[in-house]
Order: sequence, then structure tokens, then C-alpha cells
Amino acid sequence: MQAIQILTTGSPDVLTLRDLPTPTVGPGEAFIRIEASGVNFIDTYFREGRYPARLPYTLGQEAAGTVTAIGPNVSTVKVGDRVAWCGIPGTYAQFAVAPVSRLVQIPESVTAAQAAAAILQGMTAHYLSHSAYPIQTGDEVLIHAGAGGTGLLLIQMAKARGAHVFTTVSTEEKAALVRAAGADEVILYTQEDFAARIKKLASGLHAVYDSVGKTTFDKSLEVLRPRGTLVLFGASSGAVPPFDLIKLSLLGSLYVTRPTLKDYIATRADLESRAGDVFNAVAAGTLKLRIEHTYPLAEAAQAHRELESRRTTGKLILLP
Ligand code: NDP
Repeated sequence: MQAIQILTTGSPDVLTLRDLPTPTVGPGEAFIRIEASGVNFIDTYFREGRYPARLPYTLGQEAAGTVTAIGPNVSTVKVGDRVAWCGIPGTYAQFAVAPVSRLVQIPESVTAAQAAAAILQGMTAHYLSHSAYPIQTGDEVLIHAGAGGTGLLLIQMAKARGAHVFTTVSTEEKAALVRAAGADEVILYTQEDFAARIKKLASGLHAVYDSVGKTTFDKSLEVLRPRGTLVLFGASSGAVPPFDLIKLSLLGSLYVTRPTLKDYIATRADLESRAGDVFNAVAAGTLKLRIEHTYPLAEAAQAHRELESRRTTGKLILLP
């Protein structure tokens, strides 16, 4: 089968299309023909070596497809089922093997591309808005990089929970997208100081969802109200340097959490409940997906280049 591997870490140029033996299915596993594979910013961290991986390594950890074989002791999925999953490496490929305990069924009215666009970033937006900092009606929250894959979904979920949403983006084109997604206040953080602007508009936010990291972290803390919460969930601009905790006290007894999706879908019940909410909302049309960027599997390197140079909006999908 064809797959995108890295043999060494580095720039997008290290992504290599290779012919690999198709994997064999074991007990408790399903063999799946991948129809759409999601590109996520985390894939760039593995490619760069920021997160450790044993080389050669098949990139990608989100996909949707059809089960074509099952291993021994499998009763929850059958051949022909349409399934999606995330958090299991090796999805930049034509086929994958995954434990059935991590698969979720795709509703009939949801396409494979939609499922691959929704499962990782949708469940992320879900746990951020419902659990990491559970938004209450009337909360004022800031979502950085609002036009990104995760950002557009998080804005919609925050609005559905009754928040007043501030968001940052880098361009006017992205500003139009976040407004359409429901954002109330849009700030071009490449052109103006987002903290100064927010301080003029609000007396202090309940929460900031910060996936940008290095370039936004300090000012994200500054715009919180006393006892507000900073949810730092990514590092698109680089990792936040070591931090003196006394700052949290000086800025008003703040909370900071650094969550990751894996811990919010660790149980089968959590996985089914979050995936169910996300897929049902997609099927009902209340959660809108933006899938503007699709690439053949062989062009995964181009997808990485565009994602990292901030040229994309919404979801990036690879078609094997
Ligand atoms: P996005 O589609 O959001 O792309 C990243 C965006 O970050 C860019 O479009 C850009 O938006 C913004 N950005 C700001 N500074 C930079 C920079 N220096 N270089 C590149 N981009 C920058 O990606 P994803 O939705 O896939 O992921 C968003 C973030 O969420 C990532 O940091 C990812 O690691 C994290 N994440 C964390 C999860 C968790 O559970 N902890 C799960 C899923 C994602 P703009 O041009 O508007 O500034």
C-alpha cells in the first residue's frame, strides 16, 4: 500500500511516499480502507521531531473509511461498517489497522471526508468548551486562531453554549470566516495588540483558549479576569518557555491548564458521547465544517507547507 512516512525529522521535504506491506489485522482490531485522512497541526510536531517517534514513522492520526476485515474477538464492528477514529498513528496511508475499541460509527448522512474533518478537531472543540473550561451562558471568552480547523469549530460550540466570543485571526479573509461562524469581536492580531483591544471592550475574560502558544501566551493571561482560566492547548507559533507560577497570583489567582484530547476521550463512554455529539451536529447542519483544502496523499508535504505558513482555513484532508 502507499503511505507517507518520515525516515528522518525536519521540514515538509522529509515526507516521503512509500510502498509498504499492508498491515495485518490482529485480535480486537479492524482492517480499514481509508477514504479520507485528516491533516492536523500535531502532525507537523511529529515531522519536526518536537514529539518523539520511532523512525521510519507513518504520519497522521485521524481518518475515516470502511472496514474490510476484522480480527479475532471482534463483535462491535463488521465488514462494511463506515468508521472514523483518531489518536492512532499511521493514517497518511491507503489502509490502516486500528483497535475496534477506538472506532466510532459514521452516521449515514455524514461523508468520510466530513467524518475525518470532524472527529479530531470536533472532539477537541467539544472537550475544550464543555470540560476543560466549561462555558456558561454569558461568559466572555477569547479563541485564538479562530479561522483554523479547530478554531472555527470551537467558535460555533462556544456560541451554542451562550458565550460572547472574541477571536483573533491574521487576515481580513479569515476575519470574514470567523464572523460567519458567529464570532462577536474579531481582532487582527498581526496588525494590532489584541490585549489592548480586548481591555477596551471588556473588563476581563472568563477564559482564553490559546493554541498559538509562544507569541500569545503572556497577553492571553493579561486579558483574564481574576480567577479566569487560560486553556493552553497548542503551540502553533512555538512552545511557551518556562514560566514563573507567581505570575498567576499577581494577575489575579488565575488558572492555567494544558490539556490534550487523549485524556478527554480515554473511556469508551467519553469517546462515544463526544463523537456522537459532534457527528449528530454535523448531520443536523448545526455544526458547519469547512473543507476547502483537499490533497492527494502524495501531496501531503504541500499540505504541511500551507498549514504552517498560515495559508489555510478550516480543515485539510488527504485523499488516498
Ligand atoms: P489550524 O488550522 O488552527 O492552523 C494553525 C493556525 O495557527 C494558523 O492557521 C494560524 O492562524 C495560527 N498561527 C499563529 N501563529 C502561527 C505561526 N507562527 N505559525 C503557524 N500558524 C500560526 O491548526 P489545527 O486546527 O490543526 O490546530 C490548531 C492548534 O490546536 C495547534 O496548535 C494544535 O497543536 C492544537 N491542537 C491541540 C489539541 C489538544 O488536544 N491539545 C487537539 C487538536 C489541536 P492565523 O493565520 O489566523 O494566525
